[in-house]
Amino acid sequence: MPVWGGIEAGGTKWVCVVGSGPHTIAAEVRFPTTTPHETLTRAVAFFQHYQEQYGPLQAIGIGAFGPVDLHTTSPTFGYITNTPKPGWAQTDIDGRISRAVGVPVHVDTDVNAAVFGEYRWGAAQGLDTCVYLTVGTGIGGGGLINGKLTHGLLHPELGHMYLPHDTQTDPFPGACPFHGDCLEGLASGAAIAQRWGRTGDTLPAHHPAWPLEAHYVALGLTNVIVTLSPQRIILGGGVMQQAQLFPLIRRKVQTLLNGYVNDPALLDQIEDYIVPPALGNRAGVLGALALAQ
Ligand code: ZN
Repeated sequence: MPVWGGIEAGGTKWVCVVGSGPHTIAAEVRFPTTTPHETLTRAVAFFQHYQEQYGPLQAIGIGAFGPVDLHTTSPTFGYITNTPKPGWAQTDIDGRISRAVGVPVHVDTDVNAAVFGEYRWGAAQGLDTCVYLTVGTGIGGGGLINGKLTHGLLHPELGHMYLPHDTQTDPFPGACPFHGDCLEGLASGAAIAQRWGRTGDTLPAHHPAWPLEAHYVALGLTNVIVTLSPQRIILGGGVMQQAQLFPLIRRKVQTLLNGYVNDPALLDQIEDYIVPPALGNRAGVLGALALAQ
């Protein structure tokens, strides 16, 4: 049976798998993201070892933290480009893995991989236009439009949209090093920790952090709904482990749209419209496997 490789190349950890789908993972390894050399060497060793033991892989897909150069004609295609992550700017992950393992590599952003995984095997099966937003240490979004992942000038950076920010009720200036109070600056896990002086996972479910968080995420989703018209929105990432956020976000999106986008999906069916990933925290790595295929 043919097998493929998948890499969820995250900013804090990498997960590498070999398999052909969610229920046929033949090998898996995870390790922290350290220097590019050490991290890429560990990934290459995992796939080389598999090939020596069991035979060749068809291809490897990578869902990488970004920004990633996805222009096929660019001399830096497949590079992580101007990331603020120390040591990682201008790192050729595509070329280094494809040369060392000897198979074709397909790279995309971590969030595009996640939306593709959900499209193939998860909460977006049967749809052709959907968005995956991850709310974690940072905020990123991937989009599938008419069955194709969104690329263009670069790739979507949904975490960096500007939102209305009432500094009377929320004087926190924002945590984004580029924009201050963009969506990521106001609503990422890093922003929650800076605003409240403790990380979100230590805040109780009734803490005022959560209605405020839902307010900002809902503003972001409302902008996405009126621009891309997704058929479903999938919310993943560590902050969204706070399950109490989902009903707060759904109600707030309805309030903000105010009946203007008149579809049952946004009215009495909104529980099925704004949803957690069906693949859970496996969306990224399984999406990378789907990209390889
Ligand atoms: Zn920003």
